[in-house]
Amino acid sequence: MRVIFIGAGPGAADLITVRGARLLARAEVVLFDALTDPTLRELAPHAAWVHVGKRGFCDSTGQTAINALLVKHALAGKVVVRLKGGDPSVFGRLEEELQALAQAGIACEVVPGVTAAIGAAAATQRPLTRRGGGRSVSLTTAMTREGALRASRSADTEVFYMAGKQLAALSRRLIAAGWPGDTPTSVVSRAGWPDQLHSDHTVDSLGHASMLHAGRPTVVTVGAGAVPIASVDTAAAQRAHEPTMGSDTPAVEPRGKP
Ligand code: SAH
Repeated sequence: MRVIFIGAGPGAADLITVRGARLLARAEVVLFDALTDPTLRELAPHAAWVHVGKRGFCDSTGQTAINALLVKHALAGKVVVRLKGGDPSVFGRLEEELQALAQAGIACEVVPGVTAAIGAAAATQRPLTRRGGGRSVSLTTAMTREGALRASRSADTEVFYMAGKQLAALSRRLIAAGWPGDTPTSVVSRAGWPDQLHSDHTVDSLGHASMLHAGRPTVVTVGAGAVPIASVDTAAAQRAHEPTMGSDTPAVEPRGKP
């Protein structure tokens, strides 16, 4: 194997899998994204670490350059790790990189990671599936390739990625897609990081989350998976639900609260 795609998880370095950590330690070159924890470097201190993903580094020129770098280092005989935030298979442009390697005849392996939706569900103790009312989960990017905002109602729990900048517009699109205005909606930014933030809304007041989560990677969970588990987090929620802005309980919950 010359190229190993590894999902770093959504936040803290210890959310990487054991397999991912073990293979990362063997890397000679690591091509990493902006949303990966810098302390992961300690797992491969002797590798050359190349930053290829400032946020928004997603245009086709950038992607072509990343593909070329992967091929170049692999053909030079290096053990190359492509370290991606979350899971490599979820909104990670993995197909283009796999294609580039296949075309060059380079073998590779993909190691899964914890995707942001799962990280957010764990951090907020909101199971994405629920017995009875939550039988399906959809991971959806709110942005089309052309940069237009889209929303749908295709599952009992719908988790939207890449909508952080347009939460008010997402609210309107969700209502147009058939979600009732009072549907529970949970917004988590920087899930898994020490400065993670969480706020609760309804679909029609989702726009109120904009200020709180501005400029941060954010997932929006709509529907069954956004409903709090009363018996689990009532006490914590009561403390955290001290309103700090707006009317709809921006429950700011830094990670690690009891
Ligand atoms: N492959 C990644 C997703 C990359 S797309 C994964 O599986 O998680 C980038 C989007 O992911 C961001 O716009 C945001 O919507 C989401 N995201 C990534 N990290 C996040 C985090 N720690 N907290 C909340 N959302 C996150």
